[in-house]
Amino acid sequence: MVDTILTNALLPSGQLVDVAITDGVIAAVTHATPASREVEAGAVPTAATPTVSATVPPAESATTPPDAPAPTIHDLQGDLLLCAPAEPHAHIDKAFTADVIANSTGDLAGAISGWQDHYFSAAYDQQEDFHDTVRRASKAVELAISNGITSIRSHANVGEANRSVTAVKALAEVRHRYRDKLDLQIVALIAPSVVGRQGAYGRQQLKLALEAGADIVGGAPMLEEDPNQAITVLLDAATDAGTAVDLHTDETLDAEMLTLLELCRQVKERAFPHLVAASHCVSLGVQSASEQARISREVAEAGITVITLPQTNLFLQARGQTTLAPRGLTAIDALLEAGVTVAGGGDNLQDPFNLVGRGDALETASLLVAAGHQSPEAAYDLVSKCARAAMGLPAAGVEVGMQTDLLALDVSSVRGATAGAVTRRRTFKDGRLIAELHTETALY
Ligand SMILES: [Zn+2]
Repeated sequence: MVDTILTNALLPSGQLVDVAITDGVIAAVTHATPASREVEAGAVPTAATPTVSATVPPAESATTPPDAPAPTIHDLQGDLLLCAPAEPHAHIDKAFTADVIANSTGDLAGAISGWQDHYFSAAYDQQEDFHDTVRRASKAVELAISNGITSIRSHANVGEANRSVTAVKALAEVRHRYRDKLDLQIVALIAPSVVGRQGAYGRQQLKLALEAGADIVGGAPMLEEDPNQAITVLLDAATDAGTAVDLHTDETLDAEMLTLLELCRQVKERAFPHLVAASHCVSLGVQSASEQARISREVAEAGITVITLPQTNLFLQARGQTTLAPRGLTAIDALLEAGVTVAGGGDNLQDPFNLVGRGDALETASLLVAAGHQSPEAAYDLVSKCARAAMGLPAAGVEVGMQTDLLALDVSSVRGATAGAVTRRRTFKDGRLIAELHTETALY
């Protein structure tokens, strides 16, 4: 039974359609009816020759009983309807701390030491930390939803200073509060070390984090004394817990630091059965073209997804390098060429690791166009369809059978969307309108 209809939706192809939704899944996509066109005749762009994939007239489904409640109708007034963005790599536990935690050097080391100094303070209070993290993370989630994001994978720091798994517990609380609006995946980002005798505490904290609500094993092998062994420990932990893995992999311009290759080797060797994501992969971006191609083939063979995070790496990398400064992005084209699933994410949001950011996947897509030299359409795919694939979520979009995590924008092209010239956004989750954002300008 059709429960929701989106009328006058513009597709990137230029077709104007009505979309029928049943239980959060698209039941039919039909050419917009003359009646629905009349509603907003002035706002309707010229439609190209329609070749809509679908099929069943939405309101007249044979399965609809006569006494069924009327479907909810949203007139999209010719707005562009797209697969909603997903955020595959965030740190909402750290969001909005930039005004209280300094990064004295502007780079990754400065961000880490500023963060640790703050939480090693004698005045630290775990309850206060929990409530503060819930408050800031909730603000980040609401910002993301209003910008069209319906799924977030967030890392949460684990095992540092006196915090233990406080950040995981806080994000689990946020996940519960927003459960009808957002899929929130929590990655246990375990602080070094997890290796050997000195890593016993870290391994125990990782276990606690998974019990406290984290659903993915994280970590940063590059920051460990023995990165290769750290990868083994983290894959072991994920195997035991039956979870996916998402590692901060080589967030450095040092071409020698290639734990990505070791991750590929170990994942293949043990035929690791769950999803594996390598986030950042900055050091891949500084290899020669032939090395990029060779390593990308290894990544493809291992079935590892790469998550590129342009804004934070543009911010952190190449500090002080005033001539020919590299951009800090991974080798996106080589990875795509090899058949790797590449997703684009926002990473840090106004914290010591990235002082700016708007919690907006359209901003990430825009950076992938400007700094990553992707087409606007490819860039939007990286922050939406590919991001969902990286997170293991079912496909969403305007096609029959797809999930209805959708974003309607008052632009006429994907290029316009990535350019950010948007004054109206409507976010749909499982076919339900969950957020509406309008910006208005008054000229005097
Ligand atoms: Zn990160």
